[in-house]
Amino acid sequence: MARLAQTAGLTDIQQEILSTVRDFVDKEIIPVATELEHRDEYPQQIVDGLKELGLFGLMIPEEYGGLGESLLTYALCVEEIARGWMSVSGIINTHFIVAYMLKQHGTEEQKEYFLPRMAAGEIRGAFSMSEPALGSDVSAITSKAVKDGEEYVLNGQKMWLTNGGTSTLVAVLVKSDEGHPEGTAPHKSMTTFLVEKEPGFGEVRPGLTIPGKIDKMGYKGVDTTELIMDGLRIPANRVLGGVTGRGFYQMMDGVEVGRVNVAARGCGVAQRAFELGVSYAQQRHTFGKAIAQHQAIQFKLAEMATKVEAAHAMMVNAARKKDSGERNDLEAGMAKYLASEYCKEVVEDAFRIHGGYGFSKEYEIERLYREAPMLLIGEGTAEIQKMIIGRRLLEEYRFQG
Ligand SMILES: Cc1cc2nc3c(=O)[nH]c(=O)nc-3n(C[C@H](O)[C@H](O)[C@H](O)COP(=O)(O)OP(=O)(O)OC[C@H]3O[C@@H](n4cnc5c(N)ncnc54)[C@H](O)[C@@H]3O)c2cc1C
Repeated sequence: MARLAQTAGLTDIQQEILSTVRDFVDKEIIPVATELEHRDEYPQQIVDGLKELGLFGLMIPEEYGGLGESLLTYALCVEEIARGWMSVSGIINTHFIVAYMLKQHGTEEQKEYFLPRMAAGEIRGAFSMSEPALGSDVSAITSKAVKDGEEYVLNGQKMWLTNGGTSTLVAVLVKSDEGHPEGTAPHKSMTTFLVEKEPGFGEVRPGLTIPGKIDKMGYKGVDTTELIMDGLRIPANRVLGGVTGRGFYQMMDGVEVGRVNVAARGCGVAQRAFELGVSYAQQRHTFGKAIAQHQAIQFKLAEMATKVEAAHAMMVNAARKKDSGERNDLEAGMAKYLASEYCKEVVEDAFRIHGGYGFSKEYEIERLYREAPMLLIGEGTAEIQKMIIGRRLLEEYRFQG
């Protein structure tokens, strides 16, 4: 992309990383993405390539074997990868969230044990908050951990784990009664457990079952699963941070950076849709000229490009805010909300530009059309983003009268 979605002020290292990733996306992802997606096939070769590039350890500190890069670098890489195929960004996203949670909240022993192998891509992370009866309302979680000697016994059912099958480490949020008397606020009685398991489906550890892949309309290739805990025994040293009752805050911290990540995906998918639309519009002729020469189509392209630019700018702003050490929930919420809505609109316009061919599986836009809606839901729906944005605005602009 020559002109749109440029980012000012990048270091030489950031530019080098991005140019390597862009090259990888153009050569190794775009040519095979649609075919693999139609077969719902896990992109093993692409994942191996990402491992070689060091992408699994991009934000993990150098002392633990990672590249120690910023959230901005990571988000710009995700944008590039999603431009190639959104599912590939999904494969690294949950890994990245779990690594971030470990870095921020883990005990020293947990960091030393997990992070170097996560940086190498040998351990792969998934994170699990949602349950069959809840997604937005995390405080309603019913899965439970009960202490038994030096272990906890976990029971309950989780839903919608991205990378549930392929991961070997799942950060699972459950209610924990220990030390939290009856009547404790729900968000103060939750704990994140670091659950190691074998990859695959069926009983992947005694007491832990991953039933199989959920069949989805898009976002294929990456596996999304349920997780069933039935007397799952986890040692006390696998409580994230070593202290119970902090799980809700740890997860929300992870989701906050995850939101920048979803915004970046929206930017990448929208960029690809624009590329496809602007290219098709110059090739297809009606009424004696390329459809790009009809003003109605030019207006569409103008709107699409403006949305690509605006979403990119907000995503970069949210990432930079977090990198500066400041709270970024307002900016991340805004970026996620705007980028996912704009992405859906840009994809739809590119689809319309393709006329009937957009409906054919031969054209890449058909895949993007099925992928964009996931961004409206993942890491919190539009309504949830607006609730966060609204609350924060009222804090910032408190009436002083
Ligand atoms: C492909 C995919 C992958 C996913 N991966 C993961 C994962 O890796 N880990 C994980 O934990 N979860 C994951 N999720 C779950 C995702 O986070 C939830 O689906 C999402 O948070 C929405 O929750 P819900 O589906 O239960 O919808 P609900 O919470 O039931 O919401 C239904 C509707 O009601 C609206 N709504 C809810 N509450 C309010 C309110 N207070 N005010 C106004 N409107 C409201 C919502 O915006 C939505 O429109 C994934 C989901 C999908 C589809």
